[in-house]
Amino acid sequence: MVRYGYGFDYAYLLIIIVSVALGALAQAYIRSAYKKWSHVGATMGKTGAQVAREMLDAQGASAVGITSVAGHLTDYYDPRDNCLHLSQENFGGGSVASVAVACHEAGHAVQTAHGYAFGRIRTALVPVVNFTQRAWSVLFLLGIVMNFSGLTSLAIVCFAFSVLFQIVTLPVEIDASRRAVRYLSTVGGGIDERGARSVLTAAALTYVAAALISVMQLVYLLARSNRR
Ligand SMILES: [Zn+2]
Repeated sequence: MVRYGYGFDYAYLLIIIVSVALGALAQAYIRSAYKKWSHVGATMGKTGAQVAREMLDAQGASAVGITSVAGHLTDYYDPRDNCLHLSQENFGGGSVASVAVACHEAGHAVQTAHGYAFGRIRTALVPVVNFTQRAWSVLFLLGIVMNFSGLTSLAIVCFAFSVLFQIVTLPVEIDASRRAVRYLSTVGGGIDERGARSVLTAAALTYVAAALISVMQLVYLLARSNRR
């Protein structure tokens, strides 16, 4: 029988501390890399939106739109409206950092246009994970309160879907950055490529940290459910 005690759990406290520290470190690293390269002008003399437009047109994704969105580092590509949503500083700014982030998002749109496999798997997982992410903690708590191990096991299966999602996200993010760096190396100068690589590597580390944190939590849940 699976038993989850109510006593103070030092292992879980440690996981929370490590998770918070890892997340904060990754965030600090991307912010500092972005800040450094947002002071360096890209050699192309164009805005992030302009360079992203040219990349999309050059790579068979000219149907993709580009709009600006409020906030700092809030950039994303939405396959539902097939549009890049670039933060104002990256939309209208011409720094190496702006151009790198804009081309990274264009990389996601190019993935969709070309039917990139991991991107399709990730998109297919979105509705599943939207459900499991909300369901797992409720099932878990119910399992403990009702002392019913079937529910806690089901909760862990739900949580595993979130972990799988985080892991599938890694190749998708790395591939989008690779496309951006490759494009900038052909149309820009060496400084553009070097800066883009630096900013986008820092951005990728935030996804690596998120995946590590969720794997750690899953291992913990599995270890606890195997303990009598
Ligand atoms: Zn991305």
